[in-house]
Amino acid sequence: MVGCAPKEEEPVEQPQPKEEFKYLVDEFADLRIMRYQIPDWDQLTLQQKSYIYYLGEAAKCGRDILADQNCKYNLVVRKTIEAVLNSYQGDRESADFQNFVVYAKRVFFSNGIHHHYAEDKFFPEVSETYFADLIKGSDANLLPLNEGETVDDFIAFLTPVVFDKELYKVRRSSEDDIIVNSAVNFYEGDIKKAEVEAFYNKMRKPNDATPISYGLNSKLVKENGKIYEDVYKADGLYGEAIQAIIGWLQKANEVAENDSQRKYTQKLIDYYTTGDLKTWDEYNIAWVQDSLSHIDFVNGFIEDYADPMGMKATWEAVVDYKDLEATVRSNTISENAQWFEDHSPVDPRFRKEECKGVSAKSIIVTTLGGDCFPSPPIGINLPNADWIRKDYGSKSVTITNLMEAYDKAADECPRSALKEFAYSQEEIDLCKKYGSDADVVHTNLHECLGHGSGKLLPGTQPGALKEFSSTLEEARADLFGLYFLAEPRMVELGVMPDAEAYKAEYCSYIRNGMMSQLARVELGKDVTEAHMQNRKLVSEWCYEHGKDANVIEKKVENGKTYFVINDFEALRGLFGELLAEIQRIKSEGDYAAGKAIVEKYAVKVDPELHKEVKERYNALGLKPYGGFINPEIVPVMENGKVVDYKVEYPSDFVAQHLRYGKEYSFLKAKH
Ligand SMILES: [Zn+2]
Repeated sequence: MVGCAPKEEEPVEQPQPKEEFKYLVDEFADLRIMRYQIPDWDQLTLQQKSYIYYLGEAAKCGRDILADQNCKYNLVVRKTIEAVLNSYQGDRESADFQNFVVYAKRVFFSNGIHHHYAEDKFFPEVSETYFADLIKGSDANLLPLNEGETVDDFIAFLTPVVFDKELYKVRRSSEDDIIVNSAVNFYEGDIKKAEVEAFYNKMRKPNDATPISYGLNSKLVKENGKIYEDVYKADGLYGEAIQAIIGWLQKANEVAENDSQRKYTQKLIDYYTTGDLKTWDEYNIAWVQDSLSHIDFVNGFIEDYADPMGMKATWEAVVDYKDLEATVRSNTISENAQWFEDHSPVDPRFRKEECKGVSAKSIIVTTLGGDCFPSPPIGINLPNADWIRKDYGSKSVTITNLMEAYDKAADECPRSALKEFAYSQEEIDLCKKYGSDADVVHTNLHECLGHGSGKLLPGTQPGALKEFSSTLEEARADLFGLYFLAEPRMVELGVMPDAEAYKAEYCSYIRNGMMSQLARVELGKDVTEAHMQNRKLVSEWCYEHGKDANVIEKKVENGKTYFVINDFEALRGLFGELLAEIQRIKSEGDYAAGKAIVEKYAVKVDPELHKEVKERYNALGLKPYGGFINPEIVPVMENGKVVDYKVEYPSDFVAQHLRYGKEYSFLKAKH
């Protein structure tokens, strides 16, 4: 109707209420889909925006590679799903179709037919016949048919791939033979674990102080009894996608910020061209030493978690720039490392005379790709090669805009763990106001100072605490952070907003350590994971030692248990006391005391409370896993020239994947 308005009377512009950014946009199966924001985009120069844009395009070009690595028929399944979603002519409102859409979303989310985290195969909640009807009702030209293959033959091939419970059962198996039993596509032909080991053992050079990452960028193939590496490179395996990545990296290099970026990006291009792992190391050495550039990226075959042998790497990409405000904060913390050490509540004999904080930067991501998409980590620490880390250092980053998105999305969800486990509205408000900030600072203190603080007494063996060392070490770092979070100097340094903020972290720490983290432990089982043990140890110890003074109070109302902090100052004192004791245990290597404290506070769960927590948590119906929709960085054209790049925030998960399927699919789906 707007078009009908008389031209001479321009409607008066009403100030539109700015629509609030919605973080949580979709939920299905055990997954939730969020959006993340790119703050301060307009403070970047046009050149910086172009650089990010080109790197972002490169980050999207390896999507097919990851799918194919995860399982050899993932691309066939995904392209079939795309064909149905793009062209199916039948009823799209039916319950069956909706169930099919859930399956499609899960395949997009997992980059394949296996759960992204649990790694077992999942299945569509529709019948095989309905699935076949969907394919028959779609445009056959869009299906990944072989030459001369009929749609019926194709369906006969695809049905067991999707539905058979025994076929490609698990992506990465720990059952012998781990190669034979894994559906992951790093090995081809009738190849056994022992053969893989023999192949690579022959390659390794003894006493090599700077070994390449053997096997990192190839598929190991057995053909006619011979075993060889099919290398990922421009004229090798995944060549079409790699060429596209190289093309965008070359464009990026024309607008890079400085020579150092240009140099290592060229190394990366050389590596993608030749597949030479020596060049990959050279690239990493140059990359890790660049701490000055504002914009940074990760692009390559990097993480080896998916390979049962822990050698072959999945493809991933991230584009990011520095979160200056947050980086200033972590720099302030590490610059003051000595002050914190000198004021630590531990016995002065255990303090370090000279201490250096580890510098870590905070980043804002602009595009996620490959194994970081849609489900990314919130921190990254690279490169992976041990000798490069030792000789040249590593980059440790925290992704602040993703952490923020997680927090904000949890706020938007009407069912929240915070509301369920916090005792009062006051506590909820406190956590909402300061929770994200306080949590980030606690993490900074833990990483930049906590682990590095203190020293062993002469004669104490570093491994003296044996199987209890990780739990005690995490407790030490956490306690260092908890103790100093409440330090007035934190406000003076501008690291914490005010003298109340630390209380939010204290509340959530105790709530989590005493209760909510138990939701992740199976009923009847002990707490076994080191970080969880640490949080339980710290919380339970302080609860017990503050009992007489009622520092933390257990309240039960309407059958629900709560732990309420009555005296924050006293709790800080307890954190200090426990830190002093755990530092003593570490410095003296007091194995017996370490064992006693872990066994008493960190392991055993009160079965009644455990059951209650599980029930309360399950009733919330929270989705345990989260992933994201990428923002779109779009060129703004004027007279055929790019004059700017703007950021758009799409909210349709399926639409983004269908678009990626059209614009960033370079590999043929083979079967
Ligand atoms: Zn730690």
